[in-house]
Amino acid sequence: MNLAKRVKTLSPSSTLAITAKAKELKQQGHDVIGLGAGEPDFNTPQYILDAAMEAMNDGRTKYTPSGGIAELKDAIVNKFQTDNQLSYRPDQIIVTTGAKHALYTLFQVLLDETDEVIVPTPYWVSYPEQVKLAGGNPVFVTAKEDNHFKMTPQELEAAITEKTKAVIINSPSNPTGMMYTKAELKALGEVCLKHNILIVSDEIYEKLIYTDDEHVSVAQLSQELNEHTIVINGVSKSHSMTGWRIGYAAGPQEIIKAMTNLASHSTSNPTSIAQYAALAAYEQAGDTTLEEMKKVFAERLEMLHALLNDIPGVSCIKPKGAFYLFPNVKEAASNCGYANVDDWVAALLEEEKVAVVPGSGFGSEDNIRLSYATSTEALKEAAERIKQFVIKHQ
Ligand code: PLP
Repeated sequence: MNLAKRVKTLSPSSTLAITAKAKELKQQGHDVIGLGAGEPDFNTPQYILDAAMEAMNDGRTKYTPSGGIAELKDAIVNKFQTDNQLSYRPDQIIVTTGAKHALYTLFQVLLDETDEVIVPTPYWVSYPEQVKLAGGNPVFVTAKEDNHFKMTPQELEAAITEKTKAVIINSPSNPTGMMYTKAELKALGEVCLKHNILIVSDEIYEKLIYTDDEHVSVAQLSQELNEHTIVINGVSKSHSMTGWRIGYAAGPQEIIKAMTNLASHSTSNPTSIAQYAALAAYEQAGDTTLEEMKKVFAERLEMLHALLNDIPGVSCIKPKGAFYLFPNVKEAASNCGYANVDDWVAALLEEEKVAVVPGSGFGSEDNIRLSYATSTEALKEAAERIKQFVIKHQ
């Protein structure tokens, strides 16, 4: 079959691929520990399930406006005001089929052929592919591990050309868990304003921070930056609602309007029932689920971080948010006789039945990503298996 050029170079998501491989081995009866998951191992809170049931029973099961139901847009406007001191009008918000589709739609409406988008590396796997699908070119800027994987303003500026349309900022980050400070964001923002480029600020992990560091949105820092920023967020990670597929974008009305037009021809609307569920997620006061989830994640982070750093040839910076660790395993892989980390990861799955995601999928060949959104016992066991694997092969 002669498929379209645009999908010929498309790589499948490496995180979903490793999760599928781990599932397959499990089904064959192997005792596999999967650390590939990008989703909380908590159920969606009951009050959210109840709201969805109620919506279904009330017959709220029909098409909705393409950009989302008015009640949910209002709730998102309130969320931005309360959490981020950002004032948006409802016509500056679009509700989408997950944050992933907000980003996809955004790049579709922003990019013309050969337009460039700066993607700091390590990056979330879908950014480069989405940019390419929209006809654009991702331009990678390596954010150094020594600088906790944070891009500096100088590195950003050096990558800007006449074709640069936007830069992606993802804080807290998947895969590294790092966060930019307010001062760092301000400095990056100034470079963007100087060159008149847009900022795509992916804030999906906003609620999952385990230090005293405060989440800052670059859109908060000045009116001018606000006008140059599209904020991406959603309920997938904050409310353990990955399968419901509700995300959103907020930004300049012209961009949101174009995205809404495009959505009207692609998804029509995000699932009606899921929108009512997300509405409950934002409207319910006194929800303690997030706090409980954060407490468990924070404990797991402490534990796994220490266990990983105890493995010969493995070094791991301490993340501040999200639910991933991104250790450098180059030395461990080479001590084990593997030419690259990808092969080491494949052998680890084959021999020890531990599934981690190779850093190459995130543009960082020396690292691996482990998700701690899995039980504490499984994490302990996984760390032990990795250690034994490294010792055995040295
Ligand atoms: N952005 C980042 C950085 C992510 O890690 C993810 C999910 O893994 C998304 C966006 C997409 O979130 P959603 O499940 O709402 O599409």
